Amino acid sequence: MKRDDLLDLNDALQHPGRRVAVDIATAMPGESEFELLGEVEGFIEAVSTGNMLLLTGEFQARCIVDCARCGAPLEKEVVYPVDEQFPVEGTPSAFASDDFAKVVPEEDYPLFEGNALMVEALVHQGLVVNLPVQPLCRHGWDEPCPEAEARGMTRKVFDEGRHEFDRLASLKSPDGESEE
Ligand SMILES: [Zn+2]
Repeated sequence: MKRDDLLDLNDALQHPGRRVAVDIATAMPGESEFELLGEVEGFIEAVSTGNMLLLTGEFQARCIVDCARCGAPLEKEVVYPVDEQFPVEGTPSAFASDDFAKVVPEEDYPLFEGNALMVEALVHQGLVVNLPVQPLCRHGWDEPCPEAEARGMTRKVFDEGRHEFDRLASLKSPDGESEE
């Protein structure tokens, strides 16, 4: 499959010490774990030490996640850094006429195709790691949540919905065990 998100980093790789900065905006099509509002925007700066390729940068995304309590959709802004290092082998072509530096291929979760960074994979990986773990709507855990109530009401029609909420209620109450 042809990728159109490949960022050739040979300029940095073949010239250790040279900083290559690139602004990036990507929509990451086909994403299903969360809904993205607009594009993920940010920048990457690449520099090679000769043995290591260092990537730094920062990205910003707006996405829709579900409230952990009531399931209401929440709009969250996620800002996250990029700070990655990739081993490099070979001699940079700036120093050798018969060799060139190559990013050492990674097997588990490859982010490079040759010396080209798969930008979407990097951006996506960072976003998933930095999504809020337990996002809550403005009612939090303690306030009565009209959203949760509204959803509880509609679930009353179905039997399983009620027990689900009973269990949640007793879990939340610290002295709930005395009643059982
Ligand atoms: Zn909520």
